[in-house]
Amino acid sequence: MTFSWTPHRFSGGALALDVANSVILRFDAARRIDRYADASAMDAFAGAANRHCADALSHGELTPVMSENRERFIDLREKTDRYFRAEVLGRSTPAQFADLLDAISVILRRSTVGGKSTSLDTATARSALMLATHPEPQRLKICANCEWLFLDRSRNRSRMWCDMAVCGNRAKAKRHYHRRQEEA
Ligand SMILES: [Zn+2]
Repeated sequence: MTFSWTPHRFSGGALALDVANSVILRFDAARRIDRYADASAMDAFAGAANRHCADALSHGELTPVMSENRERFIDLREKTDRYFRAEVLGRSTPAQFADLLDAISVILRRSTVGGKSTSLDTATARSALMLATHPEPQRLKICANCEWLFLDRSRNRSRMWCDMAVCGNRAKAKRHYHRRQEEA
């Protein structure tokens, strides 16, 4: 099965959230898939983000993470997910916030400035910093179907799913299935 970074995989509304969502079914040990486990997929993410990520253009042209920086990038991804997920659930701690800031600063300290391109890890660190320092608690949500993090940009902030076309329809199909089961 070939894997591709389709627009659906950039439903987070911010680069840092799209990066956090590169782990599929994070809390389902049996079915969990880390899409960055394959380094070539991680590299391809940068190119796809240029096309599909909601705020990619604000970072300039994204380039892949240098191999020596991958570990720090994954560390940032994990701390991003942990902190913002806890934020949505109303149970984030100062320690989680500090861990996130540490992971951000480790990357920013090493990043090079200049040119029109930005490495994916640097851009993700900036995106996470932006989300952390300009929080939008009314908009930050967890998808009711797949548990991805996303920013709800709808006017009345009523979105329940990261992507209506994918998760919204799956949720609808599930409801329909259960209704039919009950009727039977
Ligand atoms: Zn979803």
